[in-house]
Amino acid sequence: MSAKLLIKTCPTCGSDKIKRVVRDVTRNYKGKTYFVPALEFYECPNCGEKVYDRDAMLKIEANSPAYHKAEMPADA
Ligand SMILES: [Zn+2]
Repeated sequence: MSAKLLIKTCPTCGSDKIKRVVRDVTRNYKGKTYFVPALEFYECPNCGEKVYDRDAMLKIEANSPAYHKAEMPADA
C-alpha cells in the first residue's frame, strides 16, 4: 500500500467534517470538459473545499487534456 495523504481538518475552513469521497468528477480545462471516473478525494461539506492527494492528482492528469503540456496550471 502506498502512503495516503491523511486529512483531518479542512485546510480552508478548519472543519473536522472533511471526509474522503469517491465520485465521478467532471472537470473543465480551458473550455474543454473532461471526465474523471471514480475519483477519490477529500471534500468538506462545510465550505465545499476539495482536496486531491497525489493519487488523485495523477488520475486527474491522466484524464486531463492538459496532461501533455509540460506544466500543470496551479489551480488544476
Ligand atoms: Zn471547509
